[in-house]
Amino acid sequence: MKITAIKAHALNFEVNLDITSPAKTAQHQACVVEIETDADISGHGITSIGPAKPIQAAIESIAAPAIMGMDPLNNDRIWDRLYWALVPRGQSGIGMHAIAAIDVALWDIKGKALGQPIWRLLGGARERCPVYATFGFGFYETDELPHAAEAWMERGFSRLKMTVGNSALQRRDEPRLLSDVIIEDKRRVAGVRDAAGPEAELFIDANCSLDYFHAVELAGALTPYHISFFEEPITQNDVRQMAELRRQTGMRVACGQNEAQSYRFRDMLVAGAVDIIQPNVVITGGFTQCQKIAALASGFNVGIDNGGAWPFFNAHLQAGIANGGLVEYHYSSVEACRLIYDGLPEPADGWLTMSDAPGLGFDLNRERLQNHLI
Ligand SMILES: [Mg+2]
Repeated sequence: MKITAIKAHALNFEVNLDITSPAKTAQHQACVVEIETDADISGHGITSIGPAKPIQAAIESIAAPAIMGMDPLNNDRIWDRLYWALVPRGQSGIGMHAIAAIDVALWDIKGKALGQPIWRLLGGARERCPVYATFGFGFYETDELPHAAEAWMERGFSRLKMTVGNSALQRRDEPRLLSDVIIEDKRRVAGVRDAAGPEAELFIDANCSLDYFHAVELAGALTPYHISFFEEPITQNDVRQMAELRRQTGMRVACGQNEAQSYRFRDMLVAGAVDIIQPNVVITGGFTQCQKIAALASGFNVGIDNGGAWPFFNAHLQAGIANGGLVEYHYSSVEACRLIYDGLPEPADGWLTMSDAPGLGFDLNRERLQNHLI
């Protein structure tokens, strides 16, 4: 089999989040890749949390010419070719987003060619994955959040994640003190814990928006609310500071969704900086590399969970390997997926059952895709 065409589409999704009233609006950029072959099999992939237009350019002008004509089943050979073409000194950023989107599409092709879902090709560790709902975004007012939490509990989700930190470092020159953000976060988490009840699992995510001091302050302030993990607590995923925060506070730390290279995960694991790592297949170099990172984590007796959204892609990784864990049912990215994909699976009672359909198991709707091109 040979790769005959590679197309990249830069997209912007405006999604309507109406689980509470009034509804909210969120935006996502993503780059969708389609790969065609001479065997009448095509695959699709995606990357996000990066600027879509430059990623599209990297795919079309550098990645596509480098791998045209190669056998799509040789995903490791192609991954290595793309590494040397796009990020030859171990860079991250746009080049790694391009590799991730292409690699996901290659695994979709591999699954279709072999008549198997990706999760089974990765190892078939489980048929159902536990799911958590990411619902508690910064655009909800403090008094709206408990209602949103109740709405998700009513939908059968008893594992809930909310953001904290609220872009604190990015917005410190407004001016807005980080200490004020922390005080407000304590109110927000207290309201959600009260609404969700003592048995719900509650996770928080600072999206790298805090410095070490305020992350430690917040972890201490939230001790009464039983937080199951603190995701991306510190700016730049500073490995030394995350290790120190973990030792000082006893809070479980999770991170890795925006990391691109495997050596970063090695450094986190060796330093004892994390309880859970979160390689994301649409960012961290696709299934080819995330599989290796998961294997690395297993040598440290550390598990992986899905952070960074795009659950329908990441569920294959979580289901496929033995140290896989939670799938992130990220409200706004799920709504974005509904805009361009058909045949998406639905979780029930907090679990996602994996499909036997080959490849990713859901289809790109090329007609609706046109509505979101940028
Ligand atoms: Mg996150």
